[in-house]
Amino acid sequence: MQDTLCKCVKCLSKSCLLGPNQDGPKFCPMRTVPAVFDEVRNVVAEPEIRRMFGGVARTWKDSGLSKNRVEEIMIYSRNMGFRRLGLAFCIGLSDQAKVVSDVFEKRDFDVVSVCCMTGGLCSDDIGLSTEDKMYPDGRQPQCDPVGQAFLMNRCKTDLNVLLGLCVGDDALFIRHSTAPVTILAVKDRVFNHDPLAAIPQYKESLEQQ
Ligand code: SF4
Repeated sequence: MQDTLCKCVKCLSKSCLLGPNQDGPKFCPMRTVPAVFDEVRNVVAEPEIRRMFGGVARTWKDSGLSKNRVEEIMIYSRNMGFRRLGLAFCIGLSDQAKVVSDVFEKRDFDVVSVCCMTGGLCSDDIGLSTEDKMYPDGRQPQCDPVGQAFLMNRCKTDLNVLLGLCVGDDALFIRHSTAPVTILAVKDRVFNHDPLAAIPQYKESLEQQ
């Protein structure tokens, strides 16, 4: 297994851009595990998967690669025939969520919006120990991504859009969502929900080591 761990970030050629080939480094998955790509081709041949790939490609084309992500989500949804959109949002981004929901509705989508605090869980409900609590002396509200997903499943959303869920809450949502999931924005408390803003700092510190 160690021999077949993918390390694409360490590849300088990115020769996969040019098609299937054996020209990449010795850890290139096209060299180490070529059978995986036979399995991929089988999956890509499935009609529903093919339709989803096509939806992405048409979104690129229709957007001219020049639209923001809110617009791209709507273009993609139209291309896929998605009418009902779920919006799973963080309570801290309620204002932004309201704007996104209004925009979606104005463009004739049904919107099912669910706040992360739905259901009113607290940390005791998930069996959190006192030492793991941030607020050991009081009620610690608990995000409920499972509840968000269940409510959207119940409403038969076609596509669920995540807005600002915490690291790990997004993983729980994705695991429990019936509909496909796309992400409008992720939670980043330091960089105003733009995690890539941290990269220059990391780069600089790595270069100094
Ligand atoms: S050529 Fe191979 S190793 Fe390089 S980026 Fe593409 S798949 Fe990864």
